[in-house]
Amino acid sequence: MSFTNTPPQISIPIKGQDATFLVHQIYCVGRNYRKHMAEMGYKNTKQVPFVLFLKPPAAVVLNNQEVSIPKFTENFQHEVELVIVIGKEGKNITVKNALDFVYGYSVGIDLTCRDLQANAKMKGRPWTLAKSLQNSAPISDITRVENCGHLSEGKIQLRVNNTNRQKSNLKDMIRNVAEIISEISAYYTLYPGDLIFTGTPEGVGKLEKGDNIFAEIEGLQPLTISIS
Ligand code: MN
Repeated sequence: MSFTNTPPQISIPIKGQDATFLVHQIYCVGRNYRKHMAEMGYKNTKQVPFVLFLKPPAAVVLNNQEVSIPKFTENFQHEVELVIVIGKEGKNITVKNALDFVYGYSVGIDLTCRDLQANAKMKGRPWTLAKSLQNSAPISDITRVENCGHLSEGKIQLRVNNTNRQKSNLKDMIRNVAEIISEISAYYTLYPGDLIFTGTPEGVGKLEKGDNIFAEIEGLQPLTISIS
């Protein structure tokens, strides 16, 4: 088969491999840590709806790269998140089988225009312009499951200019890795190349031009991003 066009191919380095990981789809879970829900003003943190949105592959920003603050936001914020990297096709995956579909894990940042998101929430509009922007998903090199195991606990943290902003533990996730994979696959067929951002802990905050971000999760390749 031949094609008339060549859209950009987005790929992520894999620790210890020459070949890189081609990105297909980027799923993002919202409201997955109770203390973050509380800081966002949600009163009921007992019954948590499954909140899902998408980012385009062009959202990917690799380690040690720079992100410019979009001109149309006054409040560009960081959200550090565990990223699940999917390595196998599946639909209606059970929680019991879900971990078989994981290729590896990364550290990601869900960059968010908080002012646009608040406006969208108030007006009942989609979050697309607040969340699904190009260059809104910095991600570290992938660590394969063989090298890190499956992650159900471990420190997750983010520093800006060496000051702690976010510090939590993966065990505080409301839905764990297997539950998230199972739930998304009830709606979508997952493919090798899909990434799943799993929600952020408390401590999200505003970024300024010149900031340097360092994000890490125990056992994974860390992520360094500068803001311009
Ligand atoms: Mn997020």
